[in-house]
Amino acid sequence: MPATILVTGGTGLVGKAIEWTVEHEAVGSQFGKFADDDQWIYLSSKDGDLRDLKQTMAIFDKYKPTHVIHLAALVGGLFKNMKYKLTFLRDNCLINDNVMWAAKEHGVEKMISCLSTCVFPDKVSYPIDESHVHLGPPHHSNFGYAHGKRLVDVYNHAYNEEFGCNFTSAIPTNIFGPHDNYDLEDSHVIPGLVHKCLLAKKNGTPFTVAGSGTPLRQFIYSRDLAKLFIWQLKEYPEIDPIILSVGEKDEITIKQVAEAIVKAVEFQGEVTWDTSKADGQYKKTASNEKLRKYLPDFEFTPFDKALQESVEWFVQNYDNART
Ligand code: NDP
Repeated sequence: MPATILVTGGTGLVGKAIEWTVEHEAVGSQFGKFADDDQWIYLSSKDGDLRDLKQTMAIFDKYKPTHVIHLAALVGGLFKNMKYKLTFLRDNCLINDNVMWAAKEHGVEKMISCLSTCVFPDKVSYPIDESHVHLGPPHHSNFGYAHGKRLVDVYNHAYNEEFGCNFTSAIPTNIFGPHDNYDLEDSHVIPGLVHKCLLAKKNGTPFTVAGSGTPLRQFIYSRDLAKLFIWQLKEYPEIDPIILSVGEKDEITIKQVAEAIVKAVEFQGEVTWDTSKADGQYKKTASNEKLRKYLPDFEFTPFDKALQESVEWFVQNYDNART
């Protein structure tokens, strides 16, 4: 029987990368290829508001998915997270509760939901691994979003133990790529800085980066993540989450990110640092040892190449991109 794979949040950064990967990449057997007659459905909020149970059930009634990649979420950068903690908690809890209930009621064979490294405790031993999720409070700056996401893992175990559901989760580190949110105020670090740098180049002004540049982060290219999601949906046997990330040695500072952006954008002007702005958590170094045990040979796209592709996409799609 062909599978029907429903991707919630299918119009976002990760959803678009999955669509691109399914259409363009010869997704080899190591990623657990789905059959050619499998049907992939990419949802946007226009198909229904997943904060509403009736609308969510109607979507599941319509498509009758056998598999779900659940990406839909209220997502935002550091400053929006700091300002709207209750909204991030409540919207994400509503979305997750409805999607999981609908998946259970419709007999979905397997579902992967997307967490984030924000779920991990603020005070934790490094490198962080999957066993750390519930070991202490998350960083204060985004505790609403973090607790909402943590609960997904609790739901997955409860659904499995009470109903035998095969629901699991992925924990990607910082994601970037085509179709990202390039808004100047409310975006993640890479798309926000790419947009700023392009404007600085166009206007002949300095490129100003918020914070000190010292925090460390691991970044994953959305198209690499897409391959890993497809693999996980087909092959990964656990209910427990898995960190989907480049290795610890590939962690880089925000200063290195800014320098790579300057190069990719071919910006020749002055770079300044606005140290009055918050840095957020200093580091969140995550281990990809579990992933490596399953997929020792997976090749991540080199950061500079992935950044170049993302910048090119943004330049070509500036008028239609989220800005
Ligand atoms: P985006 O913000 O790019 O996309 C969000 C998606 O969710 C969109 O398709 C949006 O639909 C949909 N959506 C939002 N609210 C609702 C709603 N109420 N009802 C229905 N659909 C809704 O997200 P990303 O692709 O960046 O993130 C995907 C997942 O990855 C999320 O779960 C996020 O928490 C997680 N994640 C993201 C990271 C990152 O760096 N971006 C890092 C780690 C985890 P529409 O387009 O119609 O608005």
